[in-house]
Amino acid sequence: MAPKHHPAPLSGGDRKALTKELSKSRAMTKIFAERSAEKRSEGEALIREADNLACQSWNDRMWSDGGPIDPSPTIDQAINSGFPWLEIKCSRCLTPRDVDLAVLPHVATTHVHDLAGRLVCQKCRKAGKRPAATLLQLAPRSRNHD
Ligand SMILES: [Zn+2]
Repeated sequence: MAPKHHPAPLSGGDRKALTKELSKSRAMTKIFAERSAEKRSEGEALIREADNLACQSWNDRMWSDGGPIDPSPTIDQAINSGFPWLEIKCSRCLTPRDVDLAVLPHVATTHVHDLAGRLVCQKCRKAGKRPAATLLQLAPRSRNHD
């Protein structure tokens, strides 16, 4: 990159001081960029931890009381924090199903509880019914692949 134009100081001492300042400024560029990357990475780790705790909190609410399902983490928070699977069962015929959240088409603002009305059991759908899914747990892996 071409150096920015700094008017050349008249005296030798001033020129030396300018050279020193430029070198210091270039060094700071690197230091600030490294600190920025470091802080960003720390921040992302904290967000992942917060998302993980939100998922655990929701799981414990589901386990102990079965609801309310709202509020719940967003799908992206669940995926981001190591809970990419949602265990559900049909509220009518009780057929269990594990849903891979990562492949589910969704927008960034979709929450896990928004899925209850959307994940309709195939068996019941064929029978002309649209029962809501009962949401059970967020999970790190599918029950079918253990
Ligand atoms: Zn069903």
